[in-house]
Amino acid sequence: MTAAPALAAAGPATGPLVDAFGRTADDLRISLTDKCSLRCSYCMPAEGLQWLSRTAVLTDAEILRLAAVFTGLGVRSIRLTGGEPLVRPGVAELVRQLAQLEPRPELSLTTNALALADQAAALAASGLDRVNVSLDTLDRATFARLTRRDRLPDVLAGLAAAAAAGLAPIKVNAVLMRGQNLEQADQLLAWALESGYQMRFIEHMPLDADHTWTRADMVTAEDVLAVLEARYELEPIGHLNNAPAEEFAVRADRADPQAAARWVTDPPRVGVIASVTRPFCRDCDRLRLTADGQLRTCLFAHEETDLRAALRSGATDQELATLIVTAVTAKPAGHGIQLPGFRQPERPMSAIGG
Ligand code: SF4
Repeated sequence: MTAAPALAAAGPATGPLVDAFGRTADDLRISLTDKCSLRCSYCMPAEGLQWLSRTAVLTDAEILRLAAVFTGLGVRSIRLTGGEPLVRPGVAELVRQLAQLEPRPELSLTTNALALADQAAALAASGLDRVNVSLDTLDRATFARLTRRDRLPDVLAGLAAAAAAGLAPIKVNAVLMRGQNLEQADQLLAWALESGYQMRFIEHMPLDADHTWTRADMVTAEDVLAVLEARYELEPIGHLNNAPAEEFAVRADRADPQAAARWVTDPPRVGVIASVTRPFCRDCDRLRLTADGQLRTCLFAHEETDLRAALRSGATDQELATLIVTAVTAKPAGHGIQLPGFRQPERPMSAIGG
């Protein structure tokens, strides 16, 4: 349900963006499109979804205007997401303009990397700092089955191009599904350690378009750690800088006895993002702007604030700021997945962005 924008402002709306639980929101995820170049079975149906119309989607100028208001309110990092953000034309130019914002936010991108081999150099030259790449398997057949596209080589080429372009760190996010790729978790970690990528495993969240998610089917953090610890010695570190990932130092590899000696001083890390079984809402610093201009203060919100309508009806920056401050003040404590009566949001993950 979209809250009607009240344009009148009580007083100058200023940052930082602090909610009723004392959390400061300074990390903005901007979805550039709801479209995607893959059809991951745990995300959307094979035929895709009813996509947003061209006029419904924010223009670059509208995104820049809103980004300037958000950075004026204390946002310090902007992550570009989708759907798949690189299916939208002109992302490098948008990045270049976002990099002109004062103060300059850290700029990152979450992508399936299919178009990264072609675009990584231009994105880096425009000011992109780092990338998160979604990749759930290194097995070509499993990839084709999970994503309904036979494009694994393009993802690997995209990752290599990102590294060559100096984007760093490169984080690789994998969603593990029971009976599909859970048993491949240690191979993914081994490959990431070898390649210099930061591996993170994400619990599948109830945000799929088909609403078929079940707790019973979900691979938990415990399940993932059990597979990893069969091979690796892991030492818990915790959440660094409010990041959603729970980090573990990799101390030893039973398949490579020499590894422990190499990892004494600066051990590599692996992350687990356990939104369902180990929620981290208490330290949440994230806000999301959807491709159609709706502000979501929580991934699982049922309320949205329509910034696009305000923008297109002539709101001033101050009035936009007031809408944002008002929305953040009402940010929910958390997702409530563990609570009886939890209701999955109508809007699927593909139309919210990671
Ligand atoms: S579920 Fe909502 S409150 Fe919790 S961490 Fe995610 S966005 Fe933040």
